[in-house]
Amino acid sequence: MFKLDNTYARLPQEFYARVAPAKIPKPELIKWNTDLARRLGAQTESLTDNELAQIFTGQKLLPGSEPIALVYAGHQFGHFVHRLGDGRALLLGEVVDPSGQRYDMQLKGSGRTPFSRSGDGKAPLGPVLREYLVSEALHHLGLPTTRSLAAVKTGEMVYRENALPGAILTRVASSHIRVGTFEYFAARQDLENLKRLKEYSIQRHYPEIQNDSEAYLQFFRKVGYAQVELVTAWMALGFIHGVMNTDNMSIAGEAIDYGPCAFMDQFRFNQVFSSIDQFARYSYSNQARITIWNLSRLGNCLVLLTNHGSREATETLNEELESFGVLFEQKLASRMLKKLGVLNDEQPQDRDLVGKWLHYLETQQLDYTLSFRNLANLVENDAGFNFFEKTGAFQDFYRLWQQRIKNQNLETRAIKEQMNSVNPVFIPRNHKIEQVIEAGLRGDFSLFHEMNEVLKKPYEEQEQFSSYKLAPRPEQVVQATFCGT
Ligand code: AMP
Ligand code: MG
Repeated sequence: MFKLDNTYARLPQEFYARVAPAKIPKPELIKWNTDLARRLGAQTESLTDNELAQIFTGQKLLPGSEPIALVYAGHQFGHFVHRLGDGRALLLGEVVDPSGQRYDMQLKGSGRTPFSRSGDGKAPLGPVLREYLVSEALHHLGLPTTRSLAAVKTGEMVYRENALPGAILTRVASSHIRVGTFEYFAARQDLENLKRLKEYSIQRHYPEIQNDSEAYLQFFRKVGYAQVELVTAWMALGFIHGVMNTDNMSIAGEAIDYGPCAFMDQFRFNQVFSSIDQFARYSYSNQARITIWNLSRLGNCLVLLTNHGSREATETLNEELESFGVLFEQKLASRMLKKLGVLNDEQPQDRDLVGKWLHYLETQQLDYTLSFRNLANLVENDAGFNFFEKTGAFQDFYRLWQQRIKNQNLETRAIKEQMNSVNPVFIPRNHKIEQVIEAGLRGDFSLFHEMNEVLKKPYEEQEQFSSYKLAPRPEQVVQATFCGT
């Protein structure tokens, strides 16, 4: 079984509060992620579902566990909140996997903490199922993300607009250090702990820069690159995080804090799902700008560690920030081109080609995911034409695209295979997640289990599960996704 370590709890007490998990009446295991447990090096076969449910609701502590709630601040929809922190989450401790990699193990929905403010510290079943499905799906799609180890029903109701069954998710993350953690100490002018946090973060995530004379700058660069990798990968998949507040941005570059997130069906540059994002701050295409804005908040903190904000350091960080913007555009273009089967170096007209394609998808209201898969069928033969034959606009794109992929001197078969290796068949479609949640609320988790299985092989055709592949019918389209916290 897991034996937990606690390097974060060894940091000064300003970093967290010690909290005991709340007692809950009747924990009942919904899902246990055996594959992940094994990867983390734990043998859990001998444990019963009931024992797992007791452990992964905090009713029984794992050896070594010292539960703490972490403090952090953050910019929420652009407004600074000087103290947020884990209001409904508890870090049980850290696991070191067989390769030496360290992970946090955290309960989400485990009751009140000193950071709960007016919240109850609990989580309804729906958001727990959503986070489980979507985080695991992103992992299997090949993205860096927090993962889900367990989902357990608590046996009690939580009260939102309605009374809903409660649940607890166990999340595994490279760490839970956020841009907002840096903002917390920076806003308090607690430079000593800010420095400690920087050093801890470097040691844990980027040890290769430990001895660098300009470690603050290297650290900024590492976090920036990791975020650019992550968010461009989201955008290539049509994923919208929904709440890209600075407290939801991990300095490890993992996707974290899945709230009202969703994958797009029809392509729209300005798509928003979150019911709380009234001004479309976190829309699909704005994710690029917000990434850079969030990184600028981190830069503001790091500059305090350089001679109390020297002018020179500010300029250096600003230059770095600008380069993140350029890198973002390059990286996104390169991902999009790969999805279109353009595999060699970018050429001057290539971004236009991507633009034409996306414009075509948007004006024809086509499904983002299916369109790329169908386009791949047109590399070798015309088996995908029916899908696109709507207007002459497709012909314009098609001619340019054919020319471009043909002058690569690659076999058509290889191009098609490459396209299919980055364009998934299966994504966790929002209307399917809603169906899973509805069934779960009736006590039926068979769809939840099935969907998890399908999403383990997102790039492979799985004929028997073709219903998961389809775009929603008009009446199935989910218009807004609630945070549901
Ligand atoms: P989020 O953006 O959803 O990750 O959460 C923003 C902040 O609100 C975090 O500090 C959470 O811990 C806190 N929070 C969200 N839901 C609850 C809840 N039910 N009870 C207490 N705190 C919560
Ligand atoms: Mg959060």
